[in-house]
Amino acid sequence: MSIDVDVAIIGAGAVGLAVAAELARQQKGVFVLEKNQTFGLETSSRNSEVIHAGIYYPEGSLKARFCVEGNSLLYDFCEKYGVDHRRLGKIIVATDSGEVEKLEEFLELGRRNGVTDLRLISRNEVRHTEPNVEAVAGMLSPSTGILDAHALMRALYGLARERGADFVFETEVVGLEKVGTGYDVEIMDREGTSSIRAGIVINSAGLNSDRVAGLAGIDLTQAGYRLHYCKGEYFSLNSPEG
Ligand SMILES: Cc1cc2nc3c(=O)[nH]c(=O)nc-3n(C[C@H](O)[C@H](O)[C@H](O)COP(=O)(O)OP(=O)(O)OC[C@H]3O[C@@H](n4cnc5c(N)ncnc54)[C@H](O)[C@@H]3O)c2cc1C
Repeated sequence: MSIDVDVAIIGAGAVGLAVAAELARQQKGVFVLEKNQTFGLETSSRNSEVIHAGIYYPEGSLKARFCVEGNSLLYDFCEKYGVDHRRLGKIIVATDSGEVEKLEEFLELGRRNGVTDLRLISRNEVRHTEPNVEAVAGMLSPSTGILDAHALMRALYGLARERGADFVFETEVVGLEKVGTGYDVEIMDREGTSSIRAGIVINSAGLNSDRVAGLAGIDLTQAGYRLHYCKGEYFSLNSPEG
């Protein structure tokens, strides 16, 4: 049996949930297909939970624009829906005089991106704010903060459900075929494979989004959609007293 839906959203991470909550406010027939047993089990629950200000992104890029706009929207959302968060600010430090020029470049870039509250601070101000950090200068970003990412996703999931979006878990999208103005979406669940017909497909499959785009026949290299993974490391610091 084939089901018809207006919008199929692939992936229930922070992005898919936010899209579902907003679209469901505007229209019926929003379906979210998620391969895991519930929402938010991948990158959206394995990150630094920072509300970024929008300092580093290339001027004029969508990332720069959306990050600056999103910063205040996210604080408003957290306030309105009771998501734990703190606007604690961030200091980017220059550990030697050679790095001060880089700080000044970030200050200029951030300002051009529309981050209006950045300012350079002295060694003493850095030390006063964070005595455990040794730096020759710093740049203070007051609108950077932190939030509880899982609480954010719970709020978005609740809103999307309340507004009529349907969530189908343990259901992986394994094929996409353009048919007329919509798509045949091939899905795999515990019962095997079947398909649904969707008027619009939204790809919010996170680290799998290039493969999902590939399923729709998009040339990943030509479109610039191929993902390149980078490895990073987190350090956790304790004070000498433990
Ligand atoms: C180490 C690290 C730190 C970060 N720190 C921050 C930070 O401090 N602040 C910040 O704003 N951002 C941060 N980010 C980025 C942020 O976490 C991501 O941009 C965000 O979580 C992406 O959300 P998403 O919904 O696109 O992806 P995901 O959370 O990965 O969700 C994608 C979903 O799609 C599902 N899916 C994939 N393929 C299919 C399929 N074929 N069928 C059905 N479902 C599918 C997956 O199961 C998953 O649930 C960080 C990222 C990393 C890696």
